[in-house]
Amino acid sequence: MNVPFVDLVSQYQGLKDQIVPAMENIMSKAQFIMGEDVRKFEQEFAEYCTSKFCVGVDSGTSALELALRAFEIGPGDEVITVANTFIATTLAISATGARPVLVDIHPETYNIDVNKIEAAITPKTRAILPVHLYGQPADMDVINTLAKKHKLIVIEDACQAHGARYKGRRTGCLSDAAAFSFYPGKNLGAYGDGGAVVTNDEHVAEKLRLLRDYGQKQKYQHLIKGYNHRLDTLQAAVLRAKLPYLDDWNTARRRCALKYNAALKETALVVPVDANFAESVYHLYVVRVKERDELLSYLQSRGISAGIHYPIPIHLQPAYADLGYKTGDFPVTEHYAREIVSLPMFPELRDEQINYVAEAIMEFHEEIVA
Ligand SMILES: *Cc1c(COP(=O)(O)O)cnc(C)c1O
Repeated sequence: MNVPFVDLVSQYQGLKDQIVPAMENIMSKAQFIMGEDVRKFEQEFAEYCTSKFCVGVDSGTSALELALRAFEIGPGDEVITVANTFIATTLAISATGARPVLVDIHPETYNIDVNKIEAAITPKTRAILPVHLYGQPADMDVINTLAKKHKLIVIEDACQAHGARYKGRRTGCLSDAAAFSFYPGKNLGAYGDGGAVVTNDEHVAEKLRLLRDYGQKQKYQHLIKGYNHRLDTLQAAVLRAKLPYLDDWNTARRRCALKYNAALKETALVVPVDANFAESVYHLYVVRVKERDELLSYLQSRGISAGIHYPIPIHLQPAYADLGYKTGDFPVTEHYAREIVSLPMFPELRDEQINYVAEAIMEFHEEIVA
């Protein structure tokens, strides 16, 4: 048996009849930039997030960068985020000229340890940028309380958490603004790059619309120095076709996670848990094991694709040598980076595939470790 890490082809097969005509409609009119599909997707996604405004952009990285810029964050400012994340989180901060300040993760949630945020706040801190990593929301009430106390902006990196819930509320309406990615493999994925910022603040939404489109509201009238970071119309059409299925897909992912948890109960693996305040949408299903590299190659030999998210923490990346961090600065992140494995996770994952992965892991322990 082969178990892929994700399976976007089978999802496409099921949706072809809706996606092809939606794209054909745009191509036959040759209206590739902005227009009705972008506007409607923005409305529909804002509604989905129970938020007032959504501004479509060309990637999750742009969404983060423009959200920071919309709050005038830039050179001389510090933005607090987490050491265990995809590098796009910090690259977006760096792109504005601000400095990423890292905080270690909580050992149970793998998200920013909210008890360690206050120690990282300085007079230069302007914002906290928590990441809802692997689909599990960060502890937003604590973060928002800290932000209020220190007069900071909060921007969610929700690029892995479309539809996840924090105390019953959807990500995207839990802070000043939230950034989403529609990279193909995300829980809601386009057929290329795409992203969006969601906010309840009308002025922020207005600023974002300028920033993504050359600083113009009307053609050739440039109010500010903007960028070319618009959401493609073809991608908006794909996203509109897929959005009605997102909740079902997330439910299927949660079901797969529960099946894995049960099947892996007898093994030495540490399985993920939902925090008591969170309902994860399992963008990734991440387990921990001491013999990580051996397990990865064993799974590969059995036709199972697994991954590591992420093998090198941000502060140990050569790209961020300039921040001056060193090994030992974020011990939980560093420890977990050596032990984490992401098992195959996608809504169409079948029970026999989950059982096959679980059996392979049990055999690994019998053959290799014992
Ligand atoms: C995917 C991702 C991003 C960046 O999104 P792109 O659309 O690839 O630019 C940012 N942060 C996190 C946590 C992500 O997983």
